Amino acid sequence: MADCIFCKIAKKEIPAETLFESDNIIAFKDANPIAPVHVLVIPKKHIKSVAELHEEDAGLMGEIILSAKKIAEDLEISQNGYKLLIRVGKYGGQEVDHLHLHLIGGAPLSEEIQPIS
Ligand code: 5GP
Ligand code: ZN
Repeated sequence: MADCIFCKIAKKEIPAETLFESDNIIAFKDANPIAPVHVLVIPKKHIKSVAELHEEDAGLMGEIILSAKKIAEDLEISQNGYKLLIRVGKYGGQEVDHLHLHLIGGAPLSEEIQPIS
């Protein structure tokens, strides 16, 4: 995806503060953090969203979640807990159309989703 900002970060065409990288994924600091720790973990290959995942991506998604767990431990936010968030599509509030997992923590987090009744 030539004009995808996260593909460009994965290919080092634009800079990001990288915390972890493997053959398949890269984790970097969110440019507009909403908490003391706000990291994005993405697949290096372009997948638009969870809605575009296939069965063969199961291992990749496992690697993304396990890397978030490891980063949380490395940054010493694991004991108090944190939030993992994936937005999907328009109603989910996804703004960047390259699948990404938010790792958010380092402080108590408010719930942004309210009951409908
Ligand atoms: P979404 O709303 O799609 O779940 O989250 C997109 C996230 O990407 C936002 O938290 C936003 O701050 C972050 N973001 C957007 N552009 C860039 C960028 O160029 N670099 C980095 N590091 N983060 C970005
Ligand atoms: Zn992309």
